[in-house]
Parts: sequence; structure tokens; C-alpha cells
Amino acid sequence: MPKINCPECGFSFIVGMVETVTCPMCSAEVQTGIEPEDAE
Ligand SMILES: [Zn+2]
Repeated sequence: MPKINCPECGFSFIVGMVETVTCPMCSAEVQTGIEPEDAE
């Protein structure tokens, strides 16, 4: 699983295959740089 570091608070957490996530610590929107899989 991909892991990212929040640029706002530095908290590191695991993310799914999504483009943008909300940091669980500070609620900042973080770009993961991951291309979401097309589920169509
Ligand atoms: Zn954060």
C-alpha cells in the first residue's frame, strides 16, 4: 500500500488508490500523485 506524508502536519499514513486524500490528523487535502484506477 502506498504511504504518504502530509505536507501540513508531517503525519504519514497509508492511502488507497486515490488521487486526493484528506489527512486524518489535520484534515488537509493531500495529493497522492497516484492515478486512480478506472473502475468503469
Ligand atoms: Zn496533516
